[in-house]
Amino acid sequence: MKWGLIGASRIAADTMISAIQAQNNHHVKGVFSSSSVRGKAYAEQNGIPYCTTDLGRLLADPEISAVYISTTNEKHKAQALAAIAAGKHVLCEKPLAMTVSDAVQMNTAAQEAGLVFATNHHLRNAGSHLQIKALIDAGRIGEILSVRIFHAVYLPESLQSWRINNASAGGGVIPDLVVHDADTIRFHLQEDPHQVVAMMRSTSMGLGVEDSVMSLWTMPSGVMVQTHDSFTHRYAQTGIEFYGNKGSIVARDVMTPKPIGTIKCVDEQGAEDIDFSNHSPYERSVALFIAAIKGTSQPAATGIDGIKSLAVALAVKESATTGQAVHVNYEGITL
Ligand code: NDP
Repeated sequence: MKWGLIGASRIAADTMISAIQAQNNHHVKGVFSSSSVRGKAYAEQNGIPYCTTDLGRLLADPEISAVYISTTNEKHKAQALAAIAAGKHVLCEKPLAMTVSDAVQMNTAAQEAGLVFATNHHLRNAGSHLQIKALIDAGRIGEILSVRIFHAVYLPESLQSWRINNASAGGGVIPDLVVHDADTIRFHLQEDPHQVVAMMRSTSMGLGVEDSVMSLWTMPSGVMVQTHDSFTHRYAQTGIEFYGNKGSIVARDVMTPKPIGTIKCVDEQGAEDIDFSNHSPYERSVALFIAAIKGTSQPAATGIDGIKSLAVALAVKESATTGQAVHVNYEGITL
């Protein structure tokens, strides 16, 4: 199968091109970039047969069956709708769009066209998170009472561009990292956050956008969730902790694109280190997207999953802006 890339992005170069090429008989045929100079260099560096500044040309390529969208966030909607109108399956980066109704529109368009539309939430594909979910599902820590997410990082200088200074492109730590927290919580707890309260700051890095946020979420089951996301913490460690009535799961270095980290399960027997697979989360995301095209599986994260993670992130932003508790508005999406 041939793929088109919409966006000459770092994430595609760092992880997704290799994740696509790692699949049996899958190749990237073309890349769309808004810059012919950058697009040409990008295509050469990444072994992509052609680049174009004309999205219509890429989408008119009959050999291309699927596109991967990794432009800045405000472009995802129009590009996804164009790709769907051209009959292409779409694997789209998070956050799917700038508003929940835009994301719903993208998902609906794909459904009506009979095309696969998926969100590239990588964490639920990581060996660490799959193992944590298996422990939770097996009842290892009993009934879950609360969860804490540690997602404060130091944004590498190479990424300190639109993320830290361009709200209209979807910059800010909330659209960048809180969507991942939301998807991860939904994946592990299999329920949708209900209400949030949050505070945000623009400290040393954000120029017109927030670079740090802390939030509390309630879940329909009564579980409470605490999150900390930041771009400015040079020496912090990421992690997630689940506290249950029979034990706890303490995972470190697992809120990351890399297949790394540690998991410890603590209960009355003591503490046990838990092994997990170190496969590439991006390769698994692509593999399940392909399986969905073949009709043999669901994507790892569907369009609905992307809509819901965006809805939570926007509720966090609204709460941090207004100082009020906010009910997450899923715009009627219930599945
Ligand atoms: P980049 O900044 O690398 O690329 C985004 C866009 O910026 C590109 O489409 C490109 O435009 C433009 N661009 C790239 N380099 C330059 C440059 N030197 N000068 C001017 N413009 C440039 O973004 P990321 O790869 O970090 O993120 C892209 C998307 O992927 C976002 O939606 C982000 O949220 C998501 N993402 C997801 C991750 C995950 O793990 N799921 C991880 C990282 C990002 P053009 O295409 O027109 O050339």
